[in-house]
Amino acid sequence: MSVIAVVGAQWGDEGKGRVVDYLATDADLVIRYGGGNNAGHTVVNPHGHFKLHLIPSGIFYPATRNLLGGGVVINPPALVRELDGLAAAGFDCANFFISERAHLVMPYHVMLDQLEERERRTAKLGTTSRGIGPAYVDKVARRGIRVVDLMEPDDFRAQLHVALARIRRVVTGYFGAGGDDDELRPAIEEATDEDRIATEYLTAADRLRPHVVDGQALVDAALVDGQRILLEGQLGTMRDIDWGTYPYVTSSSPIPGGASIGAGLPAVAIDKVIGVAKAYTTAVGAGPLPTEMLDAEGEALRERGIEYGTSTGRPRRCGWYDAVAVRFSVRLAGYSSIALTKLDVLDGSERIRICVAYRDPQTGAQWTTVPASTSVYQRLEPVYQELPGWQTDTTGCREFTQLPAAAQAYVERLEALAEVPIGLVSVGPERDQMIVRGPG
Ligand code: GDP
Repeated sequence: MSVIAVVGAQWGDEGKGRVVDYLATDADLVIRYGGGNNAGHTVVNPHGHFKLHLIPSGIFYPATRNLLGGGVVINPPALVRELDGLAAAGFDCANFFISERAHLVMPYHVMLDQLEERERRTAKLGTTSRGIGPAYVDKVARRGIRVVDLMEPDDFRAQLHVALARIRRVVTGYFGAGGDDDELRPAIEEATDEDRIATEYLTAADRLRPHVVDGQALVDAALVDGQRILLEGQLGTMRDIDWGTYPYVTSSSPIPGGASIGAGLPAVAIDKVIGVAKAYTTAVGAGPLPTEMLDAEGEALRERGIEYGTSTGRPRRCGWYDAVAVRFSVRLAGYSSIALTKLDVLDGSERIRICVAYRDPQTGAQWTTVPASTSVYQRLEPVYQELPGWQTDTTGCREFTQLPAAAQAYVERLEALAEVPIGLVSVGPERDQMIVRGPG
């Protein structure tokens, strides 16, 4: 292994953190390349049960360095809380680094996230209200504040002053010049309180300073040294800003191109891309999800898979595996192999369905790829192939041949539909509950 990107092949929450935790045994450096503390990974390992929102999943290996790349957006107080939580569990995080080029999530981003979502009324995106979208908007609008600025208190105060002057004008626009009573008013006051923000962020800056580095130099030295690098994705292809179900997407690029940009290494340096796909489908937030099951079967899947958001606790939407969406992701991301997670969650199912195409009920047309139009995608119905279930506990299986024949057939069918090998099959959240099928 030299440079491996671990990318979500569906709508996010595929179990990337768990796969990175597994692969990080062999990694010298793990880099998180995009997103913020909106999503999160749950990692279960011999040290305990951890919810990570920003810190890469390699943090549990003391010899593995972990970097938040320049493509990540960072909420400093939230990051300090995460570091404190890990410190309380016995991890000093001396192996954790932050790229000075990463942008900051500010309190007014969180406030704007809530305001904008409220403005959307019936067309809500279902954001996590953590300010991630507005932070990326400021980055692209070239008025963001970066980690490097936070490290210089005078620079930070000056930039904060300018930013807040603009934000106050924006907020006035929302409420009219006089500003009126509103339930969000206290939150707005707090999110635009210059002294409070400066104190809170500069206090966090002192705590984070030992971890802040020139990320590109760190990555470059690791590459020159031939170190083993893992690039850890957030969310999945179907939420990619360019290729996902726009506008129900995240504000960054989970696909491998985003890994190169966000981590700060040449695209050609990535030797292998592992797509992580769940054995079924889940999504958080709004937007098309053709295989969604709004019935008792979907509910049962949610309970068996404990499908509730790591960061927000929101129930995830659940459905059968969507082979059309995964193949779209395969083509876009160029996976070397797929890591299939949560096969065990299907252990109780009598029969299992795979969505092999979509059908447009208006025109009768069949779709074998993902339409660009979100309104078309919303109305497409899944065309299912049905396979028998296995109704046997797979959580103890460690070899592919130990899986019940029907489970093997299911995995092989998914592999044929994805047109890429399934190299890892995960049958439980624990580190060792993994079946290695081949070189991957
Ligand atoms: P990520 O953001 O892609 O890392 O995914 P999340 O951490 O949000 O969600 C994956 C969840 O599934 C976590 O709670 C994992 O502990 C759990 N998990 C991962 N792989 C397996 C598996 O094979 N079986 C079961 N039962 N749970 C798993």
